Amino acid sequence: MVRTRFAPSPTGFLHIGGARTALFCWAFARRHGGTFILRVEDTDLERSTPEAVQAILDGMNWLGLYPDEGPFFQMQRMDRYREVIQQMLDAGTAYHCYCSPEELDQMREAQRARGEKPRYDGRWRPENLTAGMLPPAGIKPVVRFKNPADGIVAWEDAVKGRIEFSNTELDDFVIARSDGTPTYNFCVVVDDWDMRVTHVLRGDDHVNNTPRQINVLRALGAQLPVYGHLSMILGDDGQKLSKRHGAVSVMEYPADGFLRDAVLNYLARLGWSHGDDEVFSMKQFCEWFDLDHITPSAAQFNSEKLRWLNQEYLKKLPTEELATTLSPYMARAGIVVEGPNLGQAANLYRERVHTLVELAEALRYFYVRPSPGSALVAEHLNDANRHALLVLVERLAETVWEANAIGGVIKATVAEFKLKMPQVMMPLRVLLTGKAQTPSVDAVMAVIGKDECLTRLKSALAT
Ligand code: GLU
Repeated sequence: MVRTRFAPSPTGFLHIGGARTALFCWAFARRHGGTFILRVEDTDLERSTPEAVQAILDGMNWLGLYPDEGPFFQMQRMDRYREVIQQMLDAGTAYHCYCSPEELDQMREAQRARGEKPRYDGRWRPENLTAGMLPPAGIKPVVRFKNPADGIVAWEDAVKGRIEFSNTELDDFVIARSDGTPTYNFCVVVDDWDMRVTHVLRGDDHVNNTPRQINVLRALGAQLPVYGHLSMILGDDGQKLSKRHGAVSVMEYPADGFLRDAVLNYLARLGWSHGDDEVFSMKQFCEWFDLDHITPSAAQFNSEKLRWLNQEYLKKLPTEELATTLSPYMARAGIVVEGPNLGQAANLYRERVHTLVELAEALRYFYVRPSPGSALVAEHLNDANRHALLVLVERLAETVWEANAIGGVIKATVAEFKLKMPQVMMPLRVLLTGKAQTPSVDAVMAVIGKDECLTRLKSALAT
């Protein structure tokens, strides 16, 4: 049974990289009918905040990546960590170390002076204790893991291939501080063990933790999960992803008018591929997702591609759903949706914009009377067409309000006055919408509505 986990540290918002990790863990569990676990790694009391926990949960909810188990909170599992530490002390796979911070500094200092890599020298390892070496008074010990002294620790990384470390590079790391609190690498191990995690997919900033975690798991007699370390996500310029490449917090995407399905689809392709497929549903993704097609090289974040995908999804939304999704964006743009049907208006623009924010802005003139600039009006309205427009307004008043009928009346008037189509279309467009570029004028007019179109035209032509 596949069991994956996403284990964010709540020190900020849910960022794009974290969301991609969560998505891959979730999809892998879905693909294999397994379990996706959410675990909040909140033991860093100085950096973890309740707001950040909420931000992560909000991000996961928005993405629709619901855990099958959890959220679990490491802070609520302290007793369990202490229990395992005691078991390890009893089994001799961990030991108390009484070095003071000063002593450790001196040790490192001396090692550096000898040209050695600074590391804990194992002086409190049970086998190194000399007769009469007693715990110094007044020092509360830390607990250290007894790392294997030699040999290598290696694993077949599902993304990066074989990775190995020499045990001599790993010193006996602290698993419990002198106040008894367990350390990060240790909690992760106990959790992955207790939660029977089969596949650990996480960012490759954790590659250096993996050999330590494997050694502890072995000392506990636990089965090892498969590890897959996902490469970093870089900005389009190859630099570390940051604000200037676009939003890094997942929750900025809905705010910026991106659709959840587009963001998920985009994240799915960030370091994973299925042939040339670019646009696919999450259902499809869960059927396809595998670890073999995760690229070991860094993925590049491309905001233009995300905008393109978002437009693909905007194009596909059923009208009703598009209107419902768009509503809050209209409100946020300060536009009161009254009169013209929002879905019909949106249909005219969905292929011309990339985000819901842009769509709301594009639809403003349907609901708010425009005031076309006088230069723009002067450019299109003149003595050659003014009279034709006045006649057209009268005829429109008698027309069935539907795009074809409106178009027919416009054409007939153009012909009658021996004008060219743009000579009438352009002033109509400008007076009705305040813009020189819009979708087909008759379609726009049909949505704006008869009374409102006539009001706009009459008041503009009267001046
Ligand atoms: N809490 C770690 C992080 O947010 C992830 C640990 C893990 O996945 O093992 O980077």
